[in-house]
Amino acid sequence: MRIEEDVKLDFKDVLIRPKRSNLSSRKQVDLHRTYKFKHSKAQYTGVPIMAANMDGVGTTEMAKVLNQHNMFTCLVKNYTESDLGDIVHMSDNFAISTGTSENDFRRLSMIINSYPEIKFICIDVANGYQERFADYVAEVRDAFPDKTIIAGNVVTADMTQELILRGADIVKVGIGTGSVCTTRVQTGVGYPQLSAIIECADAAHGLNAHIIADGGCTCPGDVAKAFGAGADFVMLGGMLAGHDEGGGEVISEDGRNPRIQFYGMSSDTAMDKHHGGVAEYRSSEGRTVTIPYRGPVQTTVLDILGGVRSTCTYVGAPTLRQLSKCTTFIKVNRQINDVFLK
Ligand code: 5GP
Repeated sequence: MRIEEDVKLDFKDVLIRPKRSNLSSRKQVDLHRTYKFKHSKAQYTGVPIMAANMDGVGTTEMAKVLNQHNMFTCLVKNYTESDLGDIVHMSDNFAISTGTSENDFRRLSMIINSYPEIKFICIDVANGYQERFADYVAEVRDAFPDKTIIAGNVVTADMTQELILRGADIVKVGIGTGSVCTTRVQTGVGYPQLSAIIECADAAHGLNAHIIADGGCTCPGDVAKAFGAGADFVMLGGMLAGHDEGGGEVISEDGRNPRIQFYGMSSDTAMDKHHGGVAEYRSSEGRTVTIPYRGPVQTTVLDILGGVRSTCTYVGAPTLRQLSKCTTFIKVNRQINDVFLK
């Protein structure tokens, strides 16, 4: 047994120090980024905030709205070819998600045969540390040399590098941080997300590859911190849940306080819904919760983009690209004044 003594940090452990800035308005801030991916050699330009491939979030309806803001969607795994026609013709800003079974590979191949213009594949498992997973990433890389491959999840530099060397262009980072994830309760495994982002981004950037900070963002400030820590993309589940575009049923017992069900992709609810078809998707369970219904996602999107733009003006970053260079984190004991939140 070994103990690492240095304390790892989460979003809640830091704030971003303001710096002198000559930006006078949030309007001056450009949130677009352009990346060239390591293996696919494809070029991407967009606002690198993503909807997670979760029920109620990673839907084609969500992808259509986010695409209007040049944002990205990792679609849920259960879409069939016929579900995808619209979005394929409308947008490049989405990924087809897949697991690692033979059936998953067959489905992926069929979809890409039908729609060769699809640019991104998201290979998603709970535990990216299994040897079999890296082998699978290598197989998908061989089969689809020009597709940009997202692979995860991991939280450490060693495995980030391993996945990149086996063919991933973008590594998805985050274990145990999700809003409806119970990995830490069930297994005791995890890694504070801010430190995971800092360490994995450093590892990936050294190899000219990219990372997604996946999970744990609770507010626009957390999204800004993830970019400040070096994330190339930030993926959101809970923050984009509860909206019309997620397609969930609005529940309201008394006609007031409408709510929507939201659940982790390895929760009992997800297992029941997908008939055990994704039973291996997450090794640990997820939570099922109901959250306030929030109407169209547009308002939330503008709130998130406005928050990140504002962060950029506080630290003097005219573009999102400069945000991490302009970021100094300070460790804090108190985040917010919650006197009226209790
Ligand atoms: P959020 O933005 O809601 O905090 O986190 C979203 C992320 O949580 C997803 O992208 C995914 O990585 C993770 N996640 C989704 N469902 C589950 C689940 O059932 N169990 C676990 N452990 N993680 C989940």
